[in-house]
Amino acid sequence: MNAEIVAVGSELLTAGKVDTNSLWLTAELNAIGVEVVSKCVIGDDRGRLTVAIAGSVARSPIVIVTGGLGPTEDDVTRDAVAAALGRTLEFRQEICDWIAARFASFGRAMAENNKRQAYVIGGFEALDNPNGTAPGLWCNLDASRAVALLPGPPRELKPMFTALCLPRLRAMLPPMHIAVKHYRVTGIGESDLDQMIAPAYTPYTNPVTTVLAAPGDIQVYLRARCDTEAEAQGLVDELGAKVETILGDRIYSNDGRTLETVLGDLLRARAATVSVAESCTGGLLGGRITAVAGSSDYFAGGFLTYSNEMKQSLLGVPAETLARHTAVSTETAEAMAAGARQRTASTFALSITGYAGPDGGTEADPVGTVYIGLASPDGVESRRVRLFGDRQRIRQMAANAALDLLRRRLL
Ligand code: AMP
Ligand code: MG
Repeated sequence: MNAEIVAVGSELLTAGKVDTNSLWLTAELNAIGVEVVSKCVIGDDRGRLTVAIAGSVARSPIVIVTGGLGPTEDDVTRDAVAAALGRTLEFRQEICDWIAARFASFGRAMAENNKRQAYVIGGFEALDNPNGTAPGLWCNLDASRAVALLPGPPRELKPMFTALCLPRLRAMLPPMHIAVKHYRVTGIGESDLDQMIAPAYTPYTNPVTTVLAAPGDIQVYLRARCDTEAEAQGLVDELGAKVETILGDRIYSNDGRTLETVLGDLLRARAATVSVAESCTGGLLGGRITAVAGSSDYFAGGFLTYSNEMKQSLLGVPAETLARHTAVSTETAEAMAAGARQRTASTFALSITGYAGPDGGTEADPVGTVYIGLASPDGVESRRVRLFGDRQRIRQMAANAALDLLRRRLL
């Protein structure tokens, strides 16, 4: 079954605002076997929107419209959908009362223009919105065609779609079972990864394999669709086993967890702690580790030592090491990690020092060269990595490499 998404809002046509709702909706629709065949962004313009919606409804059985359900004059989605379908808007007192009660619960009075949100298109049902004032709207045009209107703010749209639209969509779809495997991989480039696993997945049209790449984080999805759950699960298990054998411990997660979450869980399981000493990443590594709720279980703290003086005074890196080998070297990375571990009494310590660019670097160690140190109860080790891209990418990849170095140590 095919779907179209219409994202409404003039702000989405500016250079600074991205339509993220349609990306999220696409993932949700794909997961139940619905393919998004077209999407568009339309400004807050009643005429253009009416034309766009009439076209979408004529072409595709499922049409999802997001945004433009607010209380102000520029929120025209209800009007435009009504016009596109040749229907009228009906005032619903019970919705008006609900909106007024929601305002009252915040100690505020409902503004007159919020009454606009109490209008329902003829034949549509209102969808409850526990996170805002705009109800969604749903209509089954017939047994296999539906139109949904959802509020623009993602924190309102997502729960409404999950709770109220997914069950309605599932009821329209032929019985079909979907099984998914989701791997997250690091320490390998996207094209290298694809070259490795393509021979395993190309013989299969079901499951469908999708590779999504971000710096230092590649996600591999296997998705099988079958008449029975057992068949679908059997297919993803079969292909999944092949992918797992090929990628080995480059796969850091098969349940969606992030690298920092996986590392945290490994540390917690060992009752171990980690500290960090960062130079070129300027706190990114500590930021990633502490982005995980509960990281106080295993994160001791860190040192942000950008200058040579701070590397000496805070971490005890010998002046001689810096003079002889420079701040970007195996020796300095190892001394930083050893210093952080000793001064925080943590089980492990990670250090990062490198050239994030765009300027700097040496002939032997050009921009993108990063040394990662790891101090552990067994001693100190380090790794030199060569990273490519702009400053931000190099810093992200360096933090990733450090997280992964310790993850592999704990396997
Ligand atoms: P609206 O429902 O049109 O009043 O939208 C309210 C707010 O939701 C907008 O100001 C945006 O910040 C956000 N929003 C609307 N549409 C989208 C979209 N397609 N993707 C991401 N955010 C959106
Ligand atoms: Mg809007």
